Amino acid sequence: MSRFFSRRYENLIPYVPGEQPQDKKYVKLNTNESPFPPSEKAMQYAREAAGQLELYPDPGCGRLAEAFSAGYGVGRENVVFGNGSDENLNMAFMAFCDDQRPAIFADITYGFYPVFAEVNHIPYEEIPLREDLTLCPADYMDKKGTIFLANPNAPTGIALPRREIEKLAEADPDRLLVVDEAYVDFGAESCIPLTQQYENVLVIGTFSKSRSMAGARLGYTVGSAALIRDLQTIRYSLNPYNVNRMSMAAGIGALQDQETTMERCRVIMENREYTMKELRKLGFEMTPSMTNFVFARHPEMDGGELYRKLKNRGILVRHFDLSRICQYNRITIGTRENMDALLGAVREIMEEDNEKC
Ligand code: PMP
Repeated sequence: MSRFFSRRYENLIPYVPGEQPQDKKYVKLNTNESPFPPSEKAMQYAREAAGQLELYPDPGCGRLAEAFSAGYGVGRENVVFGNGSDENLNMAFMAFCDDQRPAIFADITYGFYPVFAEVNHIPYEEIPLREDLTLCPADYMDKKGTIFLANPNAPTGIALPRREIEKLAEADPDRLLVVDEAYVDFGAESCIPLTQQYENVLVIGTFSKSRSMAGARLGYTVGSAALIRDLQTIRYSLNPYNVNRMSMAAGIGALQDQETTMERCRVIMENREYTMKELRKLGFEMTPSMTNFVFARHPEMDGGELYRKLKNRGILVRHFDLSRICQYNRITIGTRENMDALLGAVREIMEEDNEKC
């Protein structure tokens, strides 16, 4: 820390993103990216937009909002875009939390939430997941503050039905519920319809996963016009040009090509079921995943050790050094070939371990 660093941040522990190695080619199953390229239309629109990079993008994101509105059936005034949903989340922490309204979220969830709280000097409470890593809505019923729920949750992959989230919204209309739906397209129920019925529900989503656009950094927040205006106040105070021309154009292309997104999600879900079946045969235990990853542990293999042995074989998965989940690895679902490479490496590692015994 330099002597110039603000005292406000001297204790800040930044978020640690998953490894993005540049040294060699891995089978990369560690940051829940899509194994497929973006839709042809998204790439074509982005290429066209590249020819106008001398101009600032539209701060109102008008054409993107129009395409979103057509795709999701919400008004243009009901959506705001961000530089990846990480930015949408940060804007929600800034707009809707303070000393009187602490942030409330699970102890095991997206690791950026406590960092968003810390960087904005927002108090927060972590609610433990149950023993089986499920999130029990009853644990949140009487909490005061702003609730952040990843649904499906990460890194567990477990989803709550929409009705459970609706009950939470109904229980206290004065409490805002922010639903982070980064992985919703892989089999869970979206809460976007609730945003039209309840003024205390906000949904955040991303183009990074099901739309294969992690590199474009494009996220969205859907909610009542009043909530979106609050977020626009924050957004225009940070960076009105947060969505660049090429990402905006690619987003429009992706929204106009829903078939490609749906087909790719179908393949990922099929590969997920295949991977889970094969891992189960090898003795792994997994949480029920509604996402593009599985969360797996083996009763006879240390989680950290498996992570390292896979990495040595050129396969990258995500391991978290948190006591409750350190025996697990989070494995992104890729192509069938990616998953066969993973399964082959796991079999090899298990055989090697057996020989040693
Ligand atoms: N929410 C959850 C639960 C995530 O796992 C991630 C991705 N790591 C994000 C939000 C952020 O995704 P992005 O910024 O790429 O939209």
